[in-house]
Parts: sequence; structure tokens; C-alpha cells
Amino acid sequence: MRIASGGVQHETNTFAATPTTLADFVRDSDCGPALSGGQVIFDRYRDTGSIHGGYIAGAEAVGAELLPLLSARAQPAGVVEQESFETMLNWFLERLKQVLPVDGVLLDLHGAMVTEQHEDAEGAFIEAVRRVVGAELPMVVTLDLHANITARMAELADVIIGFDTYPHVDMHERGREAVELLARIIRGEVTPTQAYRQLPLVTMPPMQCTLREPMQSLMRRVHRLEEEPGVLTATVAMGFPFADIRDAGVSVLVTTNDDRELAIRKADELASWLWELRDQLQPQLTSIEDVIRFVNEHPADGLTIFADGSDNPGGGAPCDGTIALQAMIDAGFEGGVVGVLFDPETAKQAHQAGVGSTIPVRLGGKTDDKHGAPVVGSAYVRAICDGNFVYRGPMLQGVAEHLGLTATLVIGGVEVVVSSIRRQCLDAEMLRIAGVEPKHRRLLVVKSAVHFRADFGPLAAHIFDADTPGIHRPDFRCFDYQHLRRPIYPLDADVTWRSNNGREQ
Ligand SMILES: [Zn+2]
Repeated sequence: MRIASGGVQHETNTFAATPTTLADFVRDSDCGPALSGGQVIFDRYRDTGSIHGGYIAGAEAVGAELLPLLSARAQPAGVVEQESFETMLNWFLERLKQVLPVDGVLLDLHGAMVTEQHEDAEGAFIEAVRRVVGAELPMVVTLDLHANITARMAELADVIIGFDTYPHVDMHERGREAVELLARIIRGEVTPTQAYRQLPLVTMPPMQCTLREPMQSLMRRVHRLEEEPGVLTATVAMGFPFADIRDAGVSVLVTTNDDRELAIRKADELASWLWELRDQLQPQLTSIEDVIRFVNEHPADGLTIFADGSDNPGGGAPCDGTIALQAMIDAGFEGGVVGVLFDPETAKQAHQAGVGSTIPVRLGGKTDDKHGAPVVGSAYVRAICDGNFVYRGPMLQGVAEHLGLTATLVIGGVEVVVSSIRRQCLDAEMLRIAGVEPKHRRLLVVKSAVHFRADFGPLAAHIFDADTPGIHRPDFRCFDYQHLRRPIYPLDADVTWRSNNGREQ
């Protein structure tokens, strides 16, 4: 059994000013200048907590030959340049033509990529692959929990499998599930029938977290649904709300073994569970001033985390916002740390000056004017390093990554871990390589909305969602949507949705 695999992953924040180019994919994919397939992908992802890690393990388990053709990903940012998208798509298609015939295809996509010409870039990608392999070849697509799934994607793929977790700690497991199900389809053991429902609902990252209620209980119900006779798999896609496209928001999928009526009925049931939770999915935000007061009033509690999701690079934000940093300095707060702040200029300056020196800085606030002004002052260089690390926490475990030249500075009593590459701080290794042990700090301002919880959550006594400005702020009042379908909850008043009670839609 021969299975081709691969894809292009991007979560596109259409409110971000910086476009995403091929150079970003080349830097972040770490598979060489032409984003090589084959052995490079085996070497990079085998035994890791990634989708291709799961594909590799699953293919070995079912006795299939896996042919990885491309694994392209770039840190979320603005709209993907059309030419860059087409270059990568063509690489995938050309490599696919060279390995034909295959028995099935696995596509490793995100589900919220927008290019200059495609609101639904994954739909375009899957359609292009279908043109090469035909309508009948078994195809399973894995997507992120933040996918904005369209009817076109659902029609073109035999099965879509989304992550069940946020933080995304089940990538390996979902990749493996995808291969195992694909193998059963290829062997003729099952005939997948997939039903799709889209809700008039958009939600924000903090409450999409599956470690918190109501999502934790909802996912338990989803797993029970997957155990029911005839059901092969079910997916809840919470959507990516920072993409101003028609299909942003919540959708669900249920796949059964050749039972259309059951698939539709179960998808309807799942959609109605989500609809009932709509009020509970709205976040509560806390200001940095209130959190500083809270930490000072609870001196013996250990670490408190201020989740600065508004400046989360994992959703396309600049990662150089200074609102919380400046507030800690202004309050004379001791024992605070900001991680990880993107400022290649300052990181380089610190490396040139060396550990133990004091340098004049204009720190952060350089990408745009939406996340605070640069912090001006003198900074002590406490540590420097090359920024190379391996994810040790539950998310992306085992994957090697880099932050570029990195430095730990102390400015006004606050430590700041400064990187040269923009990356979400979702693993404590990213601070430890720069000499910061988060357990021993009072307050950590983390440039992450939710993913940090996988590794930092167990270290923290308290976690607050930040009330800071930014292009990833979990607050619908801050965004002027032009393309999103309307009416939609919670943007519009009196939005109604009724289950179809298992009827065709
Ligand atoms: Zn995601």
C-alpha cells in the first residue's frame, strides 16, 4: 500500500500587516530551500508530536509505504502571497505525479489559510490535488482545531480529521488516526460518508481551550459520539476568528461507515451542543494593573501567568507588544518576566555587548502602533544564547526549533527574553535556554493565548487572560469585518439557528 502525504500549513490573520512569503515557509519548515520531501521529513518528524510524526508511526503500524512529498509551514501572519502559495502547491503536485500510482493521499493542512486570491486556500489546494488523482482516490485530510472549514473542503475530501485539543497536544494521535482510517478505506473495510454543518457562530481563542470548561466536557461528549456504532470519526472546528472571510467560525463534521442519514443526524446533534454553549464561549479579560495588584496581594502563591493573547504570534500578532512590560516597569514590580519578545535588533545588540554589560535599548513596539510603544531605557544583559531548542512539553514534543540569537535582558527590574525569530512561547524550554526558570518567578507575561497552558499550566498557581490591545485581542468589538457571513453570533443581535433534525440541508 503506497500513501502520498504532505501539504502547506498556514493560519492567516487578515488583520496583520505583514504578508507571508515563501521565505517565511522556508525558514519555519526547516526542510531546505526547496522544502524537500522524503528522507528530510522522516528525519525531522519521526517520533515527534506532530502530524507527520503521526503519519510516519501510523504508516508503519498498518504496513503502508509513506511517501512524504512536502511539509511546509510558516508562523501565522498576514495574507499569503499568491505566487508563494502556487510555488508550493506546484512542488506538491509535481512530486505527486512522480510517485503515481498511489493507493491514497494524506493532506496535512491547517484549514485557515488565506492567499491573495483564495479565501479558502485549503479548498483550492484539495481541488488541485483532486484534479491530479481523480475524484475516486481515497483522501484523508488533517486540519487544525482552528480550521475555518468550508463546504468545498468537506465535499472534496473523503474524510476530514481535526485536532481534538487546544493546546494542540494530539497532532501525533490525529495523524496516526488519519493513516489508520485511510488504510481501512483503501482495503475496502469501510466506506466513509461525511456530513458537515456550519454554525452562525464565531468564538475567541481563550474559551476554545479544551483544558477549560465548557470545551472540556464538550470534547468528552464528542469522544462518546465517536464510540457509537457506525460512527468512524467526529470533528469540532472552533475556527480562526482573525480571518475576515465568509466561512470563518465554528463547524462540525461527522463521518459514518456508509450511513448518510446517521452522519447528518449526528452532525446536527453535535452542532446543537455547540450552539447551546455560545454564551459560555465568551472570554473575560483582566488588565495588567489588576494582575500586578493581585500578585502583590498573594505573595506566597507562586507563579501567576498573564496570557497576552492580543500579541500572540501563533495567531499572526507581532510578538513585540510592550503594554504589560511598561506597566510592570512603571509599577516598580520585581520578579516579573516577559517571554518571548521578538526584537532582532536588540537581541543582536545584546550579543555584541556581551553578558554583564549594560546597553541603551529601544525594546519592542517596532512592528506597528497597535501593541504599545518601544520601551526606552538601559538594560542589563543577563544571558545570551543561540536560540536553538527542542520542544520538551506535551505540544510538538521532540521537534527541534530555533529562536535565532536570543538574550535575557533586565530592564527596570523586569526580565525580558528577547528573540530574533517571532515564535509563540508555548514551551518552558524557550525560557530555560535563556537562563529563566519560570517556576521561580512571580509573574510571567507570555505571548500566547492558550498553547502555553500545555507546558506552563502545571507550573502556575493562577492564569489570567490579558486585557491588552492588539490584532489578536479576543474581543469582536475591535474588528471591522467586511467579508464574514452575517448574521453571526455574537456580532449580531437575535441570531437564530435550528437543528435540521437529521434532514438534508
Ligand atoms: Zn490552532
